[in-house]
Amino acid sequence: DKEADKTLYETLNNVFKHKDFKSKLQKEATRCILNGSKDVFVSMPTGAGKSLCYQLPAVASDGVSVVISPLLALMQDQLDHLKAIKIPSATINSKLTEKERKQVLADLNSSNPNTKLLYVTPEQVATDGFKSLADSLMKRKLFKYLIVDEAHCVSQWGHDFRPDYLKLGCFRKRIPGVPCIALTATATEQVLKDIIKQLKLKEPIAKFKTSCFRPNLYYDVRMKETLGDPYKDLSEFCLEALNRSQAQKEELLENWSKYGCGIVYCRTRDACAEVASQLSRKGVPSKPYHAGLKSGIREEVQNDWMEGKFPVIAATISFGMGVDKPNVRFVAHWTLPKSMAGYYQESGRAGRDGNQSYCRLYYSRQERDTISFLINKELKKFTRDKEQQKIKLQSANKNFDAMIEYCEYAICRHWAISKYFGDVKPDCNNSCDACKTPKMLAKTIEDLQRGAYA
Ligand code: ADP
Ligand code: MG
Ligand code: ZN
Repeated sequence: DKEADKTLYETLNNVFKHKDFKSKLQKEATRCILNGSKDVFVSMPTGAGKSLCYQLPAVASDGVSVVISPLLALMQDQLDHLKAIKIPSATINSKLTEKERKQVLADLNSSNPNTKLLYVTPEQVATDGFKSLADSLMKRKLFKYLIVDEAHCVSQWGHDFRPDYLKLGCFRKRIPGVPCIALTATATEQVLKDIIKQLKLKEPIAKFKTSCFRPNLYYDVRMKETLGDPYKDLSEFCLEALNRSQAQKEELLENWSKYGCGIVYCRTRDACAEVASQLSRKGVPSKPYHAGLKSGIREEVQNDWMEGKFPVIAATISFGMGVDKPNVRFVAHWTLPKSMAGYYQESGRAGRDGNQSYCRLYYSRQERDTISFLINKELKKFTRDKEQQKIKLQSANKNFDAMIEYCEYAICRHWAISKYFGDVKPDCNNSCDACKTPKMLAKTIEDLQRGAYA
C-alpha cells in the first residue's frame, strides 16, 4: 500500500508535473485504477481532472491501454497534452496516412511497445484490423486497461447517444480479465445503469462520484398561478437574496454590488425584456440578455454584469456557459426548464463562493403544456430518422417528466435532485421549502391538484 502510494506520487510529480491531486476523489480513483483489480466508474464534473485518473495508472503499469473517445478533436487535445509531457501515445483513426498507421502498428506489434496509451473511436474498435490487434496484445499479455471516456455516449438517456458505443460491450468479450474504466461528467441514475449494462461492467464496481449536493443553496418552487403578481414575488425574492429589505432598496441602487448579483432565466427573448423591465421598475436594476441582441450589446451586458455594474441579468439559457462568477446570490427560473440536468446545471451557478444562495423556480401547468409541445415539435424538426426520433423523444419526455415531478411533489428538493443523479439522500438541513415549510407547500400543491388556479 505504501509502495503503491509512492508510485502514485512519483508519477504525479515527475511525469505529470503536478504537486498534488486536485481532489481526494481524483486520488482515490487513480489509486483504485492503478490497483487494477476492479472495473471502475468515475463521474466528476468537467475540468475535475478525469483523464489523470487513467493516464497515470496506464503510465505506471506495463502494457498498452486503449482509450475510447467519441471525437477526433477531443483525442487530438489529449494526444498533444501527452506529447508535451513526453508520454508515448498514439491514435489509430481514419485520418491517418498509410505510413503513420504502419508506424503505430509496428510499435504495437513489437515485443516491447513504447506506446502507453492508444486512442481510438468506437467505430475503429469495431473493425477487423483493430480486433486482431487486440487479440495480439491479449496473447502477449500487453492489454492493460480498456478506458471508455465520455461513457454517457453509450446511453440513449444521455444527451449524446452514439450507437457505435453499444458495440463496446461485445468487444469486451475478446479481452477477458482486462479492467474497464468508464468516465463521464454527466451521469444520471438512468445513464449509470445503462453504462453498467452496456459496457458489461463487473460487480463489485468501484464507483467514484462527486456528490451533487450543494448545502449552501436554498431551493424552492412557486406556483405562478397562485401569485397575484408574480413579478412582485420575483422582485422581493431578488432583494431578499441580495440581502436587502424593501425599505433599503434605494441604497441598493447605489451600492448593491457588495451584495452580489443574480440571474433570472427566461424561455423567450420577450420574457427576458419583460422581466428586466418589470424588475427595474420595482427597484431591482436589471437588463435582458439573449441571442436577439446585437453581439456588441450582448457582450456589453455580459461584461457589465460580470463587473458588477448592475445586479440582475434576465437571460435565456444561452447565458452562463463558462460564466464562473463566485458571488451569484440567486438563480431564478421564470419558466420551468426542459430537464432536471439542465435545471441542476443552471441553478448551480449560484453560490460558487460557498455562501448562502437561493434558487427559485416559477411553475405553471400552462407553461408545462407549452414546453411539452415544443419539445416534441423541435425533435421532429431536427431528427428525421423515425427510429432515432422515437428514442430521443422518449428520453426528452422522461427528462421533462422528472422536472415536472420536482415541481408537483412535496419531497425535499435536494433529495429529488440527488435521486435523479443516483446519489443517496443528503442532509438538507431545512435548505428547501419542502423541509422548511412543509405545511404551506402541501396546501399549495393540494390546491394545484384541485385545479384551484386553472
Ligand atoms: P475532465 O476530463 O475531468 O474534464 P481533464 O482531465 O481534461 O478534466 O483535466 C482538466 C485540467 O486539469 C487539465 O488541464 C489537467 O492538466 C488539469 N489537472 C488534472 N489533474 C491535476 C492535478 N492533480 N493538479 C493540477 N492540475 C490538474
Ligand atoms: Mg475529459
Ligand atoms: Zn429539503
